[in-house]
Amino acid sequence: MTAPADRDIRNLSFDGLTEYLTQIDEKPFRAQQIFEWLYQKQVTDFDGMKNLSRELRQKLAEHFTLNPLTVDKHEVSSDGTAKFLFELSDKEKIETVLIPTPTRTTACISTQAGCKFGCRFCASGIGGWNRNLTCAEIISQVQHVQAEARNFERPLSHIVFMGIGEPMDNFENLMKAIRLINDHRGINIGARRITVSTCGVVPKILELGQQGIQIELAISLHGYDNESRNVLMPVNKRYPFDDLIEACRNYQQNYRRQITFEYILIKDVTCSDEAIQALKKAFKGLICKMNLIPYNPVKEFDHQTPSRTEMFRFRGQLQDFGIHATIRTPRGKDINSACGQLRHS
Ligand code: SAH
Repeated sequence: MTAPADRDIRNLSFDGLTEYLTQIDEKPFRAQQIFEWLYQKQVTDFDGMKNLSRELRQKLAEHFTLNPLTVDKHEVSSDGTAKFLFELSDKEKIETVLIPTPTRTTACISTQAGCKFGCRFCASGIGGWNRNLTCAEIISQVQHVQAEARNFERPLSHIVFMGIGEPMDNFENLMKAIRLINDHRGINIGARRITVSTCGVVPKILELGQQGIQIELAISLHGYDNESRNVLMPVNKRYPFDDLIEACRNYQQNYRRQITFEYILIKDVTCSDEAIQALKKAFKGLICKMNLIPYNPVKEFDHQTPSRTEMFRFRGQLQDFGIHATIRTPRGKDINSACGQLRHS
């Protein structure tokens, strides 16, 4: 399914907007003013763009839209994490999470309505995949939580594409949105504060490297060899474990960027001694960080979370080998907003 015709002006880059203005015989500097209204002052309609002529405002309103997201539900966890269920113009639903910590405020953004990758531990793929989000739908999630974060101690500072969907499967819109988020005339968040997480779409990892923007890359690894990854993540049949690690090596060597591996800790499945040995072998010579994620319960799967002792033992074993590993504290578990618990319906 494709997105409904989306004329939202936030699908345009700064250059795209300048081009449009030139076509309608307007001065190109108007793009700067319109961007200020959209991204700094966050107006909700074209009429609010007070320093534009009435004629231009009318033209913009005829040509473009500025669709707000409808909030279907807003929940706040006991740890301060906020989750929003948004309804899109075609009634599709997506979730966005805002996570305050003592040092940063992070937004976890969705890129698709549903997910087609069907990882066997994640709630986001259970209802299947419906469609890609447009650039404007990605941007409006960021803007919505950015406004919300004004009530927090710290403004929105970090973006992680770890919500519903596979970012690399919506590559074009993802990159458009990232450029607007990063643009100093746009949302203005530094590239190093933007993380894209992928389940391992190998060709897109290489393409991301070529984009000339220094964003962070996280790989959802979760298996320790081809066999274990096949069981947990069907994408591994298409892009096998060794090819994925090879792509990460290339990415790291060519672009001198450290890669973060996300690795779920599932009792008796991913944190065995066998796993340690296999990971040591796979990671030889690779500069990386490991983010260990305690499995968050999803009712459709019957995995168990390991005990704290088991998790710390596993981390210790990785560290003994020189792999920098941290255990991620789950956030917003009481409102089902922790990793892997987001759903689109
Ligand atoms: N599709 C992308 C973006 C989603 S990121 C990707 O796979 O990277 C969401 C992160 O949460 C991924 O690392 C995912 O594997 C992890 N996750 C999914 N289900 C989980 C669960 N039940 N418990 C803990 N982490 C989970």
